[in-house]
Amino acid sequence: MTTYITTPIYYVNAQPHLGHAYTTVVADTYNRFNRLCGHDTRFQTGTDEHGDKIAEAAAREGVQPKEYVDRISAMFRETWPLINVKHDNFIRTTDANHISLVQTVLQDVYDKGDIYFDVYSGLYCNGCERFLTEKELVDGKCPDHQVAPKQITEQNYFFRMSRYQQQLVDHIHEHPDFITPERYRNEVLSFLSEPLDDLCISRPKSRLTWGIELPFDENFVTYVWFDALLNYLTGIGYPEGEMYRKYWPVAEHLIAKDILKPHAIYWPTMLMSMGLPLYRKLHVHGYWNIDDSKMSKSIGNVVRPDELVGDFGVDTFRYFVLREMSFGLDASFSNEAIVDRKNSDLANDLGNLYSRSVAMVKKYAGGIVPEPGATSDDDVELLQVVAKALEEYRENMSVFQFSRGLTAVWSLVGYANKYIVKNEPWSLAKDQTKKERLNTVLYNLLESLRILAMVLKPVMPGTAAKMAQGLGYEEENEMVSLFDTGGKWGQLRSGQLLMDIDPLFPRVDKKEQQKKNNGKKPKKETADGCVEGLIPFEQFQSVELRVAEITAAEKIAKSDRLLKLTVRAPEERTIVAGIAEHYSPEELLGKQVMIVANMKPAKLMGVISQGMVLAARTEVEGKEKLILSTVMGEAQPGDRVA
Ligand SMILES: [Zn+2]
Repeated sequence: MTTYITTPIYYVNAQPHLGHAYTTVVADTYNRFNRLCGHDTRFQTGTDEHGDKIAEAAAREGVQPKEYVDRISAMFRETWPLINVKHDNFIRTTDANHISLVQTVLQDVYDKGDIYFDVYSGLYCNGCERFLTEKELVDGKCPDHQVAPKQITEQNYFFRMSRYQQQLVDHIHEHPDFITPERYRNEVLSFLSEPLDDLCISRPKSRLTWGIELPFDENFVTYVWFDALLNYLTGIGYPEGEMYRKYWPVAEHLIAKDILKPHAIYWPTMLMSMGLPLYRKLHVHGYWNIDDSKMSKSIGNVVRPDELVGDFGVDTFRYFVLREMSFGLDASFSNEAIVDRKNSDLANDLGNLYSRSVAMVKKYAGGIVPEPGATSDDDVELLQVVAKALEEYRENMSVFQFSRGLTAVWSLVGYANKYIVKNEPWSLAKDQTKKERLNTVLYNLLESLRILAMVLKPVMPGTAAKMAQGLGYEEENEMVSLFDTGGKWGQLRSGQLLMDIDPLFPRVDKKEQQKKNNGKKPKKETADGCVEGLIPFEQFQSVELRVAEITAAEKIAKSDRLLKLTVRAPEERTIVAGIAEHYSPEELLGKQVMIVANMKPAKLMGVISQGMVLAARTEVEGKEKLILSTVMGEAQPGDRVA
């Protein structure tokens, strides 16, 4: 069998966050799972680098778009090894090969008559980088960006998407697993029950230059989606070559639900126009909410993959996201939930099973895999549990039901722990006549661990490798890396020597973890419902900011930095400010500044300061510069600032 899995190519207007990491871990796990099943596999990810938003972001930073995309794309590329993601190809839409193929496809589709030129007047959302229909608006605004789209009239090129509407509907009906889970298939069919508009696929260069030029009109660049979607083909050598022939017929795309429409409608109709077979499957997942609220920059709760790995370890992160999210639905992420999973499922259940079993083999069998004897009823039951777990694991993992697949695996972990308690190896060890039974029990435990090491390889590659090594296997030994061979019971050889490894999952102390997080970026909710790092209005109100007029200023002896200011706010007070290097006393006279009026008095160089002057801290030619804050119009000394 052959499989080809892709993630979306990520838009480089943002740095990698939990959402990107989840999609990529899912693709990596699926890819590794297929390899475990002996398939010939390919896994592609990459970055999407053209379009309005990129040009804007680059302009904001005052750099060329290419310089900007190089930097952000590198951040994605550097993130994946941190979460043990091993892709076969990382494609960039600024790659020369991709650009030239996009132009070839545009020309082909144009020559076929599927691209036409027209005047268009529509509602354009900058955030979406596309025209919206009236129907899509909520209260006149783009529901995703909460802004009213701009009315734009311009000449553009259009792709005859409508021509392929019926063909697409038929395809979806004939291939029930073309879009999964079913809710998204239904969403697409419902959308397709209305007449489909043609797709505007150009942007005039007068408005945007950062894109791929249309081969048939140099005054336009192509719409970012027409460019980006083609990566799935250009990354495997389309239109020719072994890779393209081998992998395109089995292509499976993985996306988050926000980009359903481009993948379920634009892309298949583009492929139809190109005369190519459609991809085989589209897998759609939901969103991660952080502590039950949407992850967003403005709330300040964006979770970065590198921080998670630093806090919890790669494998805990991978296990958590795969176990916690029912594929297709939204799920909730919190530090507490991840610590709970780590302590219970990983440290307690799996970690203990491993360490107890291995410790007993060392103690009672000299650290060597013993020879099993006759089989008891308990053993038969264990074998049934193993067989069932393996079957459910394989079934669910192959259809993106990772949470169920792992639940099946943990039913084996749970049963094996019970098997220890039931059989009491420590009691068997006290009775010489029960030596054979003891050996059987120990063997069965080790064999269960071997099977666990094998099935966990796609999910927690590092942990699986450690477990395998502890059992005396090289990482790539078929007994722990190939389902068909290793999935059979009784493969572990008696006489094999166990190896020492570090504990699989050192427990995370919840209090320690909280302490660590408190010293860090805002993320968690506090008891009063506020996100840490953000303050409630009441707290802001407790700071008394006022307008003050400077009536006198003088240098403080023996200090280069400090000025003694006399201000009216409206009462007269003295404030010591560290601005002597930035302002002369003379230029401050009569100026209005903003002060913190209810600050505890403090003595600085012998002078009592009754408040604090606010200033912006900036940098000019590499040197720090303070700029006093003031009000824009005439205010009365003592006016409250709020
Ligand atoms: Zn929008």
